[in-house]
Amino acid sequence: MRKKIIAGNWKMNMTPSQAVELVNTLKPLVANEEADVVFCVPAIDIVPVTEACKGTNIQVGAENMYFEESGAYTGEISPDMLTDAGVKYVVLGHSERREYFHETNADVNKKVLKALEHGITPIMCCGETLEQREQGVTMDFIRQQVKVGFQNVTADQAKTTVIAYEPIWAIGTGKTATTEQAEEVCRGIRECIAEIYDDATAAEIRIQYGGSVNAGNAAELFAQPDIDGGLVGGASLKADFGKIVNYK
Ligand code: PEP
Repeated sequence: MRKKIIAGNWKMNMTPSQAVELVNTLKPLVANEEADVVFCVPAIDIVPVTEACKGTNIQVGAENMYFEESGAYTGEISPDMLTDAGVKYVVLGHSERREYFHETNADVNKKVLKALEHGITPIMCCGETLEQREQGVTMDFIRQQVKVGFQNVTADQAKTTVIAYEPIWAIGTGKTATTEQAEEVCRGIRECIAEIYDDATAAEIRIQYGGSVNAGNAAELFAQPDIDGGLVGGASLKADFGKIVNYK
């Protein structure tokens, strides 16, 4: 039985002091033994948020990470910096990073491998544009993102990894994929993992849905057999996140 994982993606929101205030507001609302609860926060917020989350069920994630160990990469953040600060998860290949910062599937693959090497769980994002959906190539596109993203990742490592299916047209738009659309693609991703590895790996890997998840639609989405929780943007900055985490 896969444990649900519900992660907030704060994006470029919350100064360090606002971040601590938000954690203090959400702390009592997101208690839930049955799910992993993760706050993925801007790099500058990681240290104060980790401190503020001590003694709670909240685990802290980063929103990005570079694939080199250290050196002349001005502005980047390394895996050791993240682990030393207490980070357990990292969002990799979010569609906003692919679109605005030109991250490729090959870059995402290097980051996934580096995160795993350092014991950080990748939340690897994938998802199609509206145009691709209308052209009927959704699964072809996502299969390529998954296959390249998981290159040289072992089955044992893949089992610990999280994939977030986020249709780009549903992110931040208020337009959620229907439950059927979300389940269909998450099942397709699981089948792709079974092809790359085996049924046991596919049965263990956790696949989230992301894209305008809110307190009203979380229960139905998370009840689907292949949806193991959500990656939540806008609603993770509000008290509503407590309702999403306690969706049952
Ligand atoms: C996201 O940031 O990954 C996301 C899904 O955003 P939203 O929930 O706001 O659509």
